[in-house]
Amino acid sequence: MMSPPTIPQISYTLGQLAFYYKYSPPTTAWSQCLSPLESKSDLRILNFLSLLLTTGGPADRAAVSFSYTKDMGLQLFYSKCHPCSNEETYYVTQIFAIATNPQLPLPVKHNDLFHLAVMNCKAKISSRLHKASSCLKDLSIRKDFGILDRNSELEHESNSKPTPCDEYIRRYVDPEMFPNGSSLPQFLKKWFYSFLDTFGPDSSFVYPFQAINITRTLHVCYFLVVHPETRKILDPDLYYRLQKLAEYRPAIAAVIGWMGRFDSEALSTLKVTEIVPSPTSSVDVSGNFLQILDKYARYTGSVGVTDKDLCTSYGRMRSFPVSLENKITLHSHSGCFLALALAKRFFATTIPIVLNIGCAKPMCWICLEYLATIHHCYPHITICTTPNNRRINSTWMIPPGTPCEVATTMYERLGTALNSVITTCGSNSERWHNPLSETEFADSMQYWISICKDRRLAMKP
Ligand SMILES: [Zn+2]
Repeated sequence: MMSPPTIPQISYTLGQLAFYYKYSPPTTAWSQCLSPLESKSDLRILNFLSLLLTTGGPADRAAVSFSYTKDMGLQLFYSKCHPCSNEETYYVTQIFAIATNPQLPLPVKHNDLFHLAVMNCKAKISSRLHKASSCLKDLSIRKDFGILDRNSELEHESNSKPTPCDEYIRRYVDPEMFPNGSSLPQFLKKWFYSFLDTFGPDSSFVYPFQAINITRTLHVCYFLVVHPETRKILDPDLYYRLQKLAEYRPAIAAVIGWMGRFDSEALSTLKVTEIVPSPTSSVDVSGNFLQILDKYARYTGSVGVTDKDLCTSYGRMRSFPVSLENKITLHSHSGCFLALALAKRFFATTIPIVLNIGCAKPMCWICLEYLATIHHCYPHITICTTPNNRRINSTWMIPPGTPCEVATTMYERLGTALNSVITTCGSNSERWHNPLSETEFADSMQYWISICKDRRLAMKP
């Protein structure tokens, strides 16, 4: 009997298809069976909290969830893509110690948390500053950063009435940068040059020396993105980069406001728990994704799919490297790892439960399929998260301890996505053959379930 590709091999193949071709995965079943709108406000807060917990560089991820019941009190769970160091754990504790301290006035809480976040999220903030500065560097070829092209009238409105945002910005910059009477475009040009001087693409940020400067910059970015005029006059990519830097201020306000909702009795029960992720593991993808795709096509009774078929059907995005990898390291994605850990507590019940999972970055397509699969197998458990950007990660690892029925359904879902690629290519190819009969397919599925059990990839909770 032919052995079918495994879940990691199929996930890897779908990820590579999205990377090398103009392929996007099918609309996720997630949007049909879960209802994020009901949890919009809570999710927004959790997403912000997740941003504050993202202390590492661009690859770092944090997922956060919370529950509040009279019996269990206020419980907050978080998981990162790696086990937290003592320093990271202490930082999380400090966030809540400050946010829930009844002795501290609100402005002091805000300032203390801002300082704490700037000192602990160095890598993430530096990365965002660098991205904004390289965008500015590209735009600086035109002396006005493209501002004038977008709104020539504003430039001449030097004496226009200042907005509340103008006034707020003035609190965080030197007086000569934004004197009374000068316009927003005039300020922006000066401020962008100063931004490039301070945070140019080659700059390294010296902490704590530049911490105050960075804090002020994050405040200014916030008032710029909420300014009614900024979006109209800035390049969209630059505006997006400033938006990313602007997230820290509302993130801190959200955490303070959220903790302020609870009375002292509830706050006294607050328990913050890290769900430690499983270690990474490696998987053999020998023969690369084209061979895995070919193997899956043959396994389902179709004719193999070639690079040429894929180019015809989807179009190429980028060329292959000199050699494709044979072995990849799989990573636990914190969002679905945390979702499984929390959902497991309710597998044995039938009481409807909603779990909100906050992430600073929207979950990838495979994670969302996984959440939908948990809901499919345990319909009383609804998992809400931020809507997906349909990105597919090639190194997705199914969370260890996934129940067998979830793993099997997940395999079917991923297989369906791969099958539609094969069908699309087949309909464009003269070499199309009839697929396997239903009996032959059921036989192959049985084989998959048996190896799934053998390898303990999927276990009953
Ligand atoms: Zn993911």
